[in-house]
Amino acid sequence: MSGPYQIVQIASLGDDVDAELARRYRVLPLWNEADLENMVAPARDASVLITSVRRGLRSSLIDKLPNLGAVCSWGVGYETLDVSAARERGIVLSNTPHVLDNCVADLAWALMFSTARRTSVGDRYVKGGQWTEIGAFPLSTRVWGKRLGVVGLGRIGMAIARRAMGFDMEVRYHNRSERPEVQYQYEPSLLALAEWADFLVLACPGGPETRHIVNRDVLKALGSTGILVNIARGTVVDESAMVEALASGELGGAGLDVVANEPHVPPELFTMDNVSLMPHVGSATLETRSDMARLVMQNAESFLEHGRLLTPIV
Ligand code: NAP
Repeated sequence: MSGPYQIVQIASLGDDVDAELARRYRVLPLWNEADLENMVAPARDASVLITSVRRGLRSSLIDKLPNLGAVCSWGVGYETLDVSAARERGIVLSNTPHVLDNCVADLAWALMFSTARRTSVGDRYVKGGQWTEIGAFPLSTRVWGKRLGVVGLGRIGMAIARRAMGFDMEVRYHNRSERPEVQYQYEPSLLALAEWADFLVLACPGGPETRHIVNRDVLKALGSTGILVNIARGTVVDESAMVEALASGELGGAGLDVVANEPHVPPELFTMDNVSLMPHVGSATLETRSDMARLVMQNAESFLEHGRLLTPIV
């Protein structure tokens, strides 16, 4: 395809979607480049930039693209994108909401079960031969019938809460504002929610506003039989306070898909059987990742063809 570049792509969307985009549009692929500000020069005329929550977006790159009208980002979080710099320039942005809700919610439940029922530990126990050598596995903690507190009852939080019905669990939630249309009880105080809950599941956004809202007091309130599950962002939790609370037994357990400084996990957690770890894979199923990639492409297409995004960040 010839003519000026239409799209600058700084994050890959997988081989299939990358190839489809390149077939249909003039795309400058820069996902393997570190020095974006210099490499982007040939695409001065591009009106769409494709990025991801992992790759982010700096205002210095926006400055190099005078015709930029839209940023289409892969992932639902956007704390790594300079949204205000883009908006100051009149640039609209999109993310990939909805399509990943159920997979992220499934993973939250997988972490609740692996932490409470010790499924990962049990797997190692059987495969390591301890079942035959030692015999019975230690008792674990019940999940069904317990109290589930959701921090961030948005799209993913709702999908997590809905699943609780099948386990006969009572659900309460904490947001900055109450959602009168939902059936779950609102708890305006995060501390009070942690005191009430057996499982506290984090599903709020990351970024400065939620940094360390799960602090030492919240962890203490959740308590020695409480389990923290984080599929939100590592920054939401005061990680050193969490490690201390787990080590001292003040916190019962933790199931973590995310940590503050990924992929570096506090090494103390590696030896704790009451901690389940996953490498930030909430949305990482073949089906959902394909849906996310296609939604980024559809947003770019919609902007180029009709001047509007399908799933704008509001
Ligand atoms: P969403 O629909 O926007 O929901 C976010 C919820 O968090 C809202 O209910 C919001 O309610 C609440 N919230 C925002 N700020 C808060 C604060 N300071 N304190 C308490 N609650 C707050 O977003 P979503 O699509 O469900 O995604 C949520 C987050 O999940 C993403 O931002 C991302 O960080 C994370 N995520 C993780 C993975 C993974 O792989 N682990 C995958 C996808 C997403 P109020 O506005 O009323 O406060």
